[in-house]
Amino acid sequence: WKNAPPTLRDVFLNARAFQDREFLVYEDDRATYEAFARATIKLARQLQADGVKKGDRVAVIMRNLPEWPVAFFAGVLCGAIVTPLNAWWTGPELEYGLADSGTKVAIVDDERLERIAEHLDACPDLTRVYVSRLKTEPSDPRVKRLEDVIGPVNSWKGLPDQPLPDVEIGPEDDATILYTSGTTGKPKGALGTHRNMISNIGAGGISAARNFLRAGQPLPEADPHKLPQRVTLLVVPLFHATGLSATLGPSMNAGGKLVFMYRWEAEKAMQLIEREKVNATGGVPTIAWQLIEHPAREKYDLSSLQAVTYGGAPSAPELVRKIAEVFPGSQPGNGWGMTETTATFTSHMGKDYENRPSSAGPAAPVGEMKIMDPEGTRELPVGEVGELWVKGPQVVKGYWNKPEATAETFKNGWLRTGDLARLDEEGFLYIVDRAKDMLIRGGENIYCVEVENALYEHPDVMDAAIVGVPHRTLGEEPAAVVHLKPGGTADEAELRAFVRERLAAFKVPVKVAFWPEPLPRNANGKILKTELKKVFEGQGA
Ligand code: ATP
Ligand code: MG
Repeated sequence: WKNAPPTLRDVFLNARAFQDREFLVYEDDRATYEAFARATIKLARQLQADGVKKGDRVAVIMRNLPEWPVAFFAGVLCGAIVTPLNAWWTGPELEYGLADSGTKVAIVDDERLERIAEHLDACPDLTRVYVSRLKTEPSDPRVKRLEDVIGPVNSWKGLPDQPLPDVEIGPEDDATILYTSGTTGKPKGALGTHRNMISNIGAGGISAARNFLRAGQPLPEADPHKLPQRVTLLVVPLFHATGLSATLGPSMNAGGKLVFMYRWEAEKAMQLIEREKVNATGGVPTIAWQLIEHPAREKYDLSSLQAVTYGGAPSAPELVRKIAEVFPGSQPGNGWGMTETTATFTSHMGKDYENRPSSAGPAAPVGEMKIMDPEGTRELPVGEVGELWVKGPQVVKGYWNKPEATAETFKNGWLRTGDLARLDEEGFLYIVDRAKDMLIRGGENIYCVEVENALYEHPDVMDAAIVGVPHRTLGEEPAAVVHLKPGGTADEAELRAFVRERLAAFKVPVKVAFWPEPLPRNANGKILKTELKKVFEGQGA
C-alpha cells in the first residue's frame, strides 16, 4: 500500500476496493471482497440497532469460517472493542472470557453455542448472541440466527449496498482484546488500539520488503491490483493475534484470497493446496513438519507453494533444511512475536534464515529489542543470554482488567517478554527458552529448546519436549517426552546416547518417555508441558 491506514476501518475500506476478487473460500462457500463488505456493513448496522456503542465489547467465538472476518469487522465499524475468544475453550473458560471482557454481543458458531448455552446467565452484560450455522431452533430469547441478518455466505453478494455506521474512530481508540495462549497460566487479555494493529500490519509490510531485498529477491510489484492474487491457506486460528494480524491484515491489504479449514488436518490441507493453488501457508512449526512427514505427500501437487512460514513456538534448525529439500520452490520463513506485540515482531526468510537456522530474524523496522539481566536493571552486551525486552508502536498498552500483571510486564514503554534470548551483532534474535521453562540442575542452566533441538536431529523423532523432574539435591533434572515417526524404532538408551554425543552430560535427559500420539498442544500450537510433566509424577530422584 502507499499510506499506512490509520484505523482498522481503513483496512476494511481498502479491501473493498478489490470488489469482485474472491476473498473467502470455505468448502463450497465463496465470497468476493464486495460480498464480504456488504455482509459486514449489514451486520454492523444490526449491532448498532442492538445498542452496541463505541468501546462496548463484541466477542467473536468461532472456528475459522468466512463469517469470522465479517463478525470482526462489523464490530470494528461500530467502534466496538472486538474480543475474539478461543474456540477451543470449554464452557467455563468461555464464561470467563465473556464475563472478564464484559461482552455485550457475541457472534458464535453452532458448536460454541452448545458450550455457552448454560453459561449465558453468568454473563450479565451479554444481551444478544448471533449464531452462524445453527442446527436447532434457538430456545433462549437472547439467541438469534446470524443468517437471519446476513443470509448464508453464497447470498452475500445480493445484499443491499448500505452506508457505514456513523461512528468516529481514531488510531488511539481501543480496537481489540486478544487473549494470550495460556501456555504459562490463565490467558490474559491484551488490550490493543487501532494504532497497535495498524503498526503491526505496516511494520510487517516493511519487514517483508526488507526480507525480500536481503534474500536477493526482486521486490513484488507495489500495486496489489496489478499482481497475480496470492492464495493463503489459513491454518492458524483467527482468534489468535497471529491469525488475525499476520494473515488477515496482509491478505486484505494485498487483495489476497484466504482458504479456510475448520480444523487442521494435514491431508485435507494438501488437497486444498492442490485444489486452490495455494501459494503460502504455515503458522506454527508443527504444521510444516506434518506436511513434510506425511506419507501421502507425494500424491499431491504442492508446486504452487511459494512460502512456508511459521513462528509462535521454537522450531528445530533442521526444519529450514527440510523445507528447502521438500518444497524447493518455497521460501522458508520464521518469526517471533507475542499476543502483546500484536503478533509477529521479528521475521526473516530465505537465505537469511537458512544461514541462521536458529534465529527468528531481526525486529520489524520500527521495533526495538534489548536483552536485560534477570532483575531487569542492567542491559546485557551483544551475545549474552538474558530476558528479551521489546518496544514499538505494535506493543499493546496493557492487559484488560489486570492492573498487577500490567505493572509487572509493561515498564516505561518496554514490554518484558518472559523469553530468554540473545541478539547477534546484526540484531538477529535467538530465542533460547521461556524463562518459566528453563531448568536449573544443581546451578547449571538448561535451556529446554537446546535439548529438544538435539533430539529433533534424530531421524526417528517426530516430536520432542523437555520437562523438569524433581531431584532431592540437584533441584531438578531434564526428562524427555518423545513421539516417534511412523516406523521409528529408537529406544531410551539410543536417544540418550544421541543427545550425549551432542551436548554436555548435565543436559542429557535422565529419562525418556514415549508418547503414542503427537504431543498435546494448545490451539496455537504450543506444547502443553504441564500435561507432559504428569508422565514423570512420583519418578523424581
Ligand atoms: P501465555 O502468555 O498465556 O502463557 P503464550 O505466551 O504462549 O501464553 P502467545 O502470546 O500466543 O501466548 O505466545 C507468545 C510466546 O510464544 C512467546 O513469548 C514465545 O515464548 C513463544 N514464541 C513465539 N514465537 C517464537 C519463536 N519463533 N521461537 C520460539 N518461541 C516463540
Ligand atoms: Mg506469554
